[in-house]
Amino acid sequence: MPERKNLFGYSLSKLTDELVSLGQSKFRARQLFAWIYGKGVYDFDAMSDIAKSFRGTLKSDYCLELPEIHTKQKASDGTVKLLLEMEDGAKVETVLMRYNYGNVACISSQVGCAMGCQFCASGLLKKTRNLEAHEMVGQVLTLNSILKEEGESISHVVVMGTGEPFDNYENVLEAVRVFNEQYGLAIGARHITVSTCGLPAGIKRYGEEGIQVNLAISLHAPNDEIRNQIMPISKAYPMDQLMEAIRQYQEKADRRVTFEYILLKGLNDQPEHAQELADLIYQNHVYAYVNLIPYNEVKEKPYQRSPNNAIHAFHDILMKRGISTTVRKEFGSDIDAACGQLRAKIQRQGGS
Ligand code: SAH
Repeated sequence: MPERKNLFGYSLSKLTDELVSLGQSKFRARQLFAWIYGKGVYDFDAMSDIAKSFRGTLKSDYCLELPEIHTKQKASDGTVKLLLEMEDGAKVETVLMRYNYGNVACISSQVGCAMGCQFCASGLLKKTRNLEAHEMVGQVLTLNSILKEEGESISHVVVMGTGEPFDNYENVLEAVRVFNEQYGLAIGARHITVSTCGLPAGIKRYGEEGIQVNLAISLHAPNDEIRNQIMPISKAYPMDQLMEAIRQYQEKADRRVTFEYILLKGLNDQPEHAQELADLIYQNHVYAYVNLIPYNEVKEKPYQRSPNNAIHAFHDILMKRGISTTVRKEFGSDIDAACGQLRAKIQRQGGS
């Protein structure tokens, strides 16, 4: 029997095309979306306005299955970290963070990561495969099912968990469409952020999508010399190429990008680095906002979190240079909150 296709991985236009090719009316997909995302009904038999014969086709060829919750950790600040198990046993992390502006889902895009950033726990487990679109949508729906008990739901999605989204471009974009679509999860484009370590081809292509979804770039250094030490991808795509890709993105999308910048003690957190970062932004004519990230220390890695006074000094220099800058709030410090830490721990304990 051929594998059933998971409907959570279909945007409305993709599902419409597929159902029309099966001889259905083009409204059928919208009807299904109303059941799935409007009413939260995942049982084809309960979809009473869909002809019985077509429900039979749906049951034999399609499914609506969510990942299973393998481990759930809850921090004192309300952060929830899930280790989710996919159908083939692959495990990925998903995090719920509670900001005053809403409930943010931080989702993974791959099983493991191939980018090898030196400071990151995700790369401790090498990439084994891409996640399918339905597995990314499934992460958000699983968090929604937890939030439902409180009468709440996910209002923002950041693709900042394990994996490099632009190394899995099509599936990530399909999932983003489901998040954003009015008949899907209806999360505003400006409430969705895709974060990349800086793959120029993906950045340029993203600019041509015609969507208003945010782009964040993990910069983490003001020059190639430091970036090469901590991000191997920088050797393949040096700063010049990265900045050129961002300029091309901005020509098309006309959107400000976010530079993420992890502050690592003694390595990239000195006042001269802040000045150099401001120069880099101005000299390259990119329209950017900087999000400073206090490093979440990882046991297996030698890097240390910058002290708060260094973080604030860095912030103040950028602000004085006229660059909008924020310091990222830290979440779930009493659980394994850094990307990939929970999964790596479970794997070490033999729970793979
Ligand atoms: N591959 C993508 C998305 C996943 S990483 C990217 O590189 O952007 C999401 C963000 O978390 C990146 O900015 C990454 O550098 C950062 N990050 C990874 N490990 C971290 C840690 N231990 N503490 C703080 N931020 C971390």
